[in-house]
Formats: sequence, C-alpha cells, structure tokens
Amino acid sequence: MKKIIPVIIFCIATFSFSNLQAKDMLSPADKAFNSYKERFVLSLWKINPGWASSVGFHKYDNVLVIPDQKSRILELDFCNKQLDSLSRFKLDDLSDANKTDHHMMENQLKYTQWGIQEQKAWQWDPSSYNVSSSFADMLGNDYAPLEERLRNFARRMAAIPAYYKAAEHNIKNPTLEHTALAIEQNLGGISVFEQDLPDALKRSTLEQKEKDAMLAKAATAVLSIKEYTEWLKNLKNENPRSFRLGKELYGQKFGFEIQSGYTADEIYQKALKHKQELHDEMYKLTEKLWPKYFAGHPIRANKMEAIQYMIEKLSENHVKADSFQAAIEAQIPALVAFIKKNNLIYIDSSKPLVIRKEPAYMAGVAGASINAPGPYDKNGNTYYNVGSLSGWDKNKAESYLREYNHYILQILNIHEAIPGHYTQLVYANQSPSIIKAILGNNAMIEGWAVYTERMMLESGYDGDNGINSAMASPEMWLMYYKWNLRSTCNTILDYSVHTKNMSKEAALELLTKDAFQQQAEAEGKWKRVSVTQVQLDCYFTGYTEIYEFRQELKNKLKIDFRLKAFHEKFLSYGSAPVKYIKELMMKDMK
Ligand code: ZN
Ligand code: ZN
Repeated sequence: MKKIIPVIIFCIATFSFSNLQAKDMLSPADKAFNSYKERFVLSLWKINPGWASSVGFHKYDNVLVIPDQKSRILELDFCNKQLDSLSRFKLDDLSDANKTDHHMMENQLKYTQWGIQEQKAWQWDPSSYNVSSSFADMLGNDYAPLEERLRNFARRMAAIPAYYKAAEHNIKNPTLEHTALAIEQNLGGISVFEQDLPDALKRSTLEQKEKDAMLAKAATAVLSIKEYTEWLKNLKNENPRSFRLGKELYGQKFGFEIQSGYTADEIYQKALKHKQELHDEMYKLTEKLWPKYFAGHPIRANKMEAIQYMIEKLSENHVKADSFQAAIEAQIPALVAFIKKNNLIYIDSSKPLVIRKEPAYMAGVAGASINAPGPYDKNGNTYYNVGSLSGWDKNKAESYLREYNHYILQILNIHEAIPGHYTQLVYANQSPSIIKAILGNNAMIEGWAVYTERMMLESGYDGDNGINSAMASPEMWLMYYKWNLRSTCNTILDYSVHTKNMSKEAALELLTKDAFQQQAEAEGKWKRVSVTQVQLDCYFTGYTEIYEFRQELKNKLKIDFRLKAFHEKFLSYGSAPVKYIKELMMKDMK
C-alpha cells in the first residue's frame, strides 16, 4: 500500500495547482461548473469501472459490472440525473472551454440512453460481451504493485460466471456476423486466464495457497467463457438480425458519434463527389508522370488502369525492411524544421516526441502509432511506437513496405506525429479538460490528422527536397491522393453498407478498383464494416469540416488570413467537435 501514497499526494498537488492558477479569473458559474464536472466524472467511473481502469483510474479495479437489467436501469438513472444537473447551467454563463465540455457531456449522456433504449446492441451483438482485454490490461500495465493488481484481478474474476449468464439472458436474434466475432474473440481471450495469469502469479510474491485459489477461480472463469461460446454456437437463431444498422439508426448514431454540422447523408454525398475529384487529379498526374516512368510505352487506354500502373510503379520506391524504423526517425526533425521555416504552427520543443520500437505486447501490428498518457498520468511520455519488420516472412514484408512506400511513409509521419496527432495532443494538453480527455471527439482528432496531410503538401512539403522544398512532387501528390481515397472510400463504404444494402461484391469492387487497395486489405475492411457502424466516417467527416472551415475563413479574411494563427487558434479549444470550435472561433472574430 505504501507505494500508492505519494501518487495520491502528487495528484492532489497538480489538481490544486491548476485550480489556483485560474481561480481568480473564473466566474461563479464556471467555478460551480468545474466542481460539478469533478463530481460527474467520479460518478461516471463508479458505474463504468472498466472504462475507469482503461483511462488509468484504478479505484474500481476489483468490480466487474454484471450486464443485467438492473445495471441498465442504474445507468439510465445516472443519465437522467446528470442531464437534469447539466440543464441547470446556462451555456451563456460559461467559458468557451466549459461550453464545449457541457455540449460533450450532454451528448455522451444522450448517446448512452440511445444505446440502451434504441440501438440495443446489448441484445443483438454478442461480441459486446468479452472480459479478456480489461483483465489483460491489469496484468500488462505496471500502474501498481503486481500483488495488488493480482488481488483485484481475482476479485473481479469471481464475477465472470454471472457476467456471461446475464449476457445469455440478454441476447435475442443476434446478427450472424457479431455471433461469429464473439466466438472468435472470446475464445482468443482465454489465454489471459490460462497463460498470462499463471505467468504473473509465478513472478509474484503471493503465498502458494493464495495462488492456488486464484488459479481455481481462473479455471471457473475459463469454463464460463467456453460455455458462452458453446451456447452461441448452438443458439437457434432462425431470424437473425441483419448486421446492417439501417438508415434511421445510422443517422442517429452518426449524430452522436461524429457530432458533425452535417448529416450522414450530406457527408456521403460529399465523399462521392470528392472521390471523383481525386480520380480526375490522379489521372492528370499519371499522364504527366507516364513518360518519365514508362518511356516508349503508350499510356493505358483505361484511365483507372493507367493510375493503377503508376501507383504500382511508384510503390517500388521503398526502404529496406531493416531501415524502416531509422527512416521514420530521420523524418521527424525534417518535418519540424519545415514547419518552422514555413510558419505553419508553433511546435513546443520542450515536449519532444519519444520515438521507440513498439513494445512487445503490440508486436505484429507494425506501422506506427502514437501512445499518449491517459488523463490520470499527465506527466507520462508520449511515445511514437514504430513497428519492426524483423522476423516477417519475405513476401509479407515486401507487400507491407510497398504499401508504406517512400511517399506514404512521409504522409504517415505527418498524420501520426507532426503536425498531426502528436501536435494536436500537445495543444489539447495546454487547456486541460478531463471531459475532453475522456470524451474527445474522434472526428476532430482524426480529421485534424488527415487535414494536416493535405496542408503540408499544399505548403510544399516533400521529403526529397528537405527543408527548402517549395513544391511537393507530382509523385508525392499522386500517392497522397491514393492515401486520401482510403478515408473517402471508408465513408462511402460504411454509409452504403449500412443504409443502402451494398453487397460484399460491390464493396470489394469499390475498395480494389476505386480506391486501388489490395484484395487482402479490402477483405479486412469488409469484415470491419460488417461488425462496426459509423466509426469509419470520422476521418473524412472531420477532414472535410476543417478544410471547408479554413477555406471559408480564408475567403472572408483575404490577405489578413494567417495559416499559423488559424491552426493555433483552432487547436486551442482541445478535442471538441469541429462544429463547436467553428462556432466559437466565428464569434471571437466579430
Ligand atoms: Zn520492393
Ligand atoms: Zn489517425
């Protein structure tokens, strides 16, 4: 227990420090709202212990909520109560930061109500019941002494049989796709109890008697998981629900999840139009590049085929497997230098990004990803995890390197690191909000990263020409457009599949022909779209809203428009939905 005390003191110290700083400037309404937010979050964690643990709040680690009718009623009561409390605050009395927090809290509460009462995935999605990853986190993350984590693990594990019994009780006419996914994922998760737990017990200093008791509980837990998957396999499901969400529910979910100024249908129409524009631009570039790469050969008569040929040719330009990480590392300082030289956005050099080889538990994912500290671990490092291709078989590595070729690798760095996700995160941390840290708007976050890809190329970024680059090469643009087609077609795919009955065949055609994807990637995307809804829209929607907003301001301010000022102001609102940022920025300008 001793180890915990300094951590708690430390937390209180940082909290009161940030309160002190701003205290005198706060209006009484903001003061009241701030303390309400703290109470809100604490009660949110009480009814969502799993969510709490995942963001680093470990007080309820030993609790596993049984997903029965009683827990749903508790959650609905919570939503009603909090919505009532929220309605007592007048938006006009609150600061901009609190206004956006207020909107986001209200949205979250209504989204939860809608999920329980309207979407009802708890009835038709058997894969929503799976305990393994939250248990794996307790063993894999070193936030408290191992023995303490193991004891909480054991207390939580005792509820697993009741958890799956409640799941069986809830499920009615599930979709076949979610049923198959539930069986696959639940069986896959058993290793947490059969391997990870015994391994952790070996490393611990617990007494043998206690270890044995935990192993016995684990055996019971494994049995319940297996029983659940058997039950699913034998379920008489004569009228399975379609995995397609349908137009009405889709539109509603889009509203809650994306919080866009546009409807789902409007975004779909924009994506269709954008796809056409991208194809037109790509063909123009292909015509221009053709003689350079295929001298003496006439251009293919079929436009889409010609583009495909050119993309494949350019994909041959890629790094060797053993220099993948070094290539990524070398690009980060080049990006920073280019941004400074061109006055694109202020980059805080006191918070450098820590680049590391991806940790073992992420191995196999490859690529690159940002790992940010959670809201309860503010002083933790932000890592840029870079995958290693060592141990991959030659063909798999080659196809991967072609996908993340010389051009795309640069765009990936812009997106994930600078000035994409990492830069956005640094700005978001400057106006800390626990609400935005836990309810951050994905369309804004992904939209920003996608927006910066285009912004960097428009500003002339091209790694081949270094810091003095003034214009991105046609090769770079062509590959960027191919990359951008991915998020554009994600939106077309998701909307068409869930609201327009698009067949698997048509979906694969869209991805392989219109978006130039490999068959394996397209198949993977089909699997994803058949078990998720709306999430795939966040990239294109956020990007479109940010880009359009910037153009609108540019037209309005004309020569007074400053790109750097726009970026810094835009990010200063934190991870709020774009429509609210836009509203506040426009008001500020008047
Ligand atoms: Zn190659
Ligand atoms: Zn991203």
